[in-house]
Amino acid sequence: MSAAAFAETASPLIDPLGRAVRYVRLSVTDRCDLRCVYCMAERQRFLPRDEVLSVEALDRLASSFVRLGARRIRLTGGEPLVRRDVMDLVRRLSRHLASGALEELTLTTNGTRLAQHAAALAGHGVRRVNVSLDTREPETYRRLTRGGDVARALGGIVAAKAAGLAVKINAVALADDNAGELAELIAWAHGEGHEISLIEAMPIGEIGADRTAQFLSLAQVRTRLEARWTLTPLARRTAGPARYVRVEETGGTLGFITPMTHNFCGDCNRVRVTCTGRLYLCLGQEDHADLAGALETGGEAAVERAIREAVARKPGAHDFRIAAGASPAVARPMSMTGG
Ligand code: SAM
Ligand code: SF4
Repeated sequence: MSAAAFAETASPLIDPLGRAVRYVRLSVTDRCDLRCVYCMAERQRFLPRDEVLSVEALDRLASSFVRLGARRIRLTGGEPLVRRDVMDLVRRLSRHLASGALEELTLTTNGTRLAQHAAALAGHGVRRVNVSLDTREPETYRRLTRGGDVARALGGIVAAKAAGLAVKINAVALADDNAGELAELIAWAHGEGHEISLIEAMPIGEIGADRTAQFLSLAQVRTRLEARWTLTPLARRTAGPARYVRVEETGGTLGFITPMTHNFCGDCNRVRVTCTGRLYLCLGQEDHADLAGALETGGEAAVERAIREAVARKPGAHDFRIAAGASPAVARPMSMTGG
């Protein structure tokens, strides 16, 4: 069956491999107040502001997904909280939580501006946030983020907890930077009552550095952690890329996100929309659909058609590979697609 014919007949957002797309990551900006070494180049060039969609357009795109059966929306970026009107978008999208159409509205943030927004996020029905924190060491943080102040991120995490938000920490495992600190970071997160997931660095975007030197396999990290702790695999699966264990000694949950050493695409239920309205079916592939163009020419009906057609050709898997001198799997940076 052709992709177009499949799109006509299939129920909302089931791809040809039978994976139901229920989860949309919506990037609200490609800008950021940090320059993490694995994510961006030092002199990252950002989109002209007039190419970035308005809050109203982002709301219309996101709401089209909700009508087509998406149950979870995660706002991301770049850094979502550097966008001045981001809380207006959160407020608008919260109507889908109130109606029950959406199960969850959440965001991924570096935490630097969380202290300002945590209470309002909770007020709009956000129940949890993912905060990216690769290290608690001020100097390492400053180097990894090229100038960031870890106290701001830690303050954001404290404020989120105080506002009643569940916090999940995400840490990218990096050979030369935080490899020796990961156990301490896990123990700290669990002590504070937060889940934590470790992530393998992916070859996404030109960052002006050698990714082979940065890369650290989570298989190695796990072996080291097992020498210290008892890790009990948990049955919990989220149709996401993480596999979870309980650390018996801390009582906390630890996730391993292993795009490089263990391909998790088989049950991928997510798609990504950029702040310019491009729909990407896979983080590691170039194929996309222009939802902003569809919105402009044909309104929501055209957007929904474009989404169905795109989902009907969602690729089976990414083909990431990190090798010396290899170009990145995709040239667009993670901050553009939305992590
Ligand atoms: N600025 C926000 C933040 O840092 O949480 C949201 C956007 S950021 C692109 C989302 C996530 O992608 C972060 O957890 C970050 O560590 C991760 N990330 C960025 N580049 C990556 C890469 N090359 N490989 C693996 N994870 C990456
Ligand atoms: Fe900014 Fe997040 Fe990328 Fe770091 S990982 S540079 S915080 S977008």
